Amino acid sequence: MSNREASRVETVCVGEATSGPAHEVVEGREVPISRTSLVNRTLPHRDRRMVGAWCFVDTYGPDAVITLPGMRVPPHPHTGLQTVSWLLEGTIEHRDSLGSLQRVVPGELNLMTAGRGIAHSEVSPPDRPSTLHGAQLWIALPDADRRVEPRFEHVTDLPVVRLPGVVATVLVGELHGTGRRSPARVHTPLVGADLRVDGVAQVPLDPAFEHAVVVLDGEVVVDGEALRPGPLLYLGCGRSTLDVGSGGGRCLLLGGEPFEEEILMWWNFVARTHEEVVAAREEWMASLAEGAPSGRFGQVVGYDGAPLPAPALPTSRLRPRGRAR
Ligand code: MN
Repeated sequence: MSNREASRVETVCVGEATSGPAHEVVEGREVPISRTSLVNRTLPHRDRRMVGAWCFVDTYGPDAVITLPGMRVPPHPHTGLQTVSWLLEGTIEHRDSLGSLQRVVPGELNLMTAGRGIAHSEVSPPDRPSTLHGAQLWIALPDADRRVEPRFEHVTDLPVVRLPGVVATVLVGELHGTGRRSPARVHTPLVGADLRVDGVAQVPLDPAFEHAVVVLDGEVVVDGEALRPGPLLYLGCGRSTLDVGSGGGRCLLLGGEPFEEEILMWWNFVARTHEEVVAAREEWMASLAEGAPSGRFGQVVGYDGAPLPAPALPTSRLRPRGRAR
């Protein structure tokens, strides 16, 4: 997925860097990610930039894509992050500059590690199912690992944990205390789990992590708050369990060790300095010229159309920001 609201993420934030439990509703907003697709974005928010290493949370659908062009995000670059693609319904066709061509389907995880640089495209294939419903999340890479070689993982054997009232699919990291860990490779202690809630449940949490929940389907009561798709509920740190209840709703549990590094998110880059963003943008734009070498981002082969140019940089200097205020 591509971030088109490049200028909006550079805003001053007013959230608290919480060290204990919190209960903070972060409102989502509708954002176009291409001419035909709208998503609901909760992170980054001016009051809350990160939850653990999670730095970007888009949820979308269920949208009817049978009569529309569906999702169509042309080749675009990423640096310094991992993208998590997770679907409840539908199909997305992913291509990247490593040569990967992979369909994202419900129940299977696509994890793309941009590291020093990668490019990819995402489209609804012609033979797609009639609706598209899912999430795309970004994980910031820590400084020590943010220049790793790019890689792509497609994981079909995710651990499923059955607890009273909830079935949890562990996308990345571990569901605390259950010993069930996703084989997907991440670079900081974190958790991402899809919770199917039917009844009342207590989900085990790592008290050293901060956590948040975003609902994907139906209504789920989380920590006493009735949530539907739209907002993200930030829960802070220091909790060892989370009360959830629903008659069949579905939500994502996101958490991780508080990410203490300041990061600079601009367009599709996670960096640390203004100069890095300028250099990455210039390299991407130079690679778009006819006959130019594709450079560190490589080339997405097989996409029918032109790659996405980067937006203009703001006139002010970009500054790295902390996870909250
Ligand atoms: Mn993307």
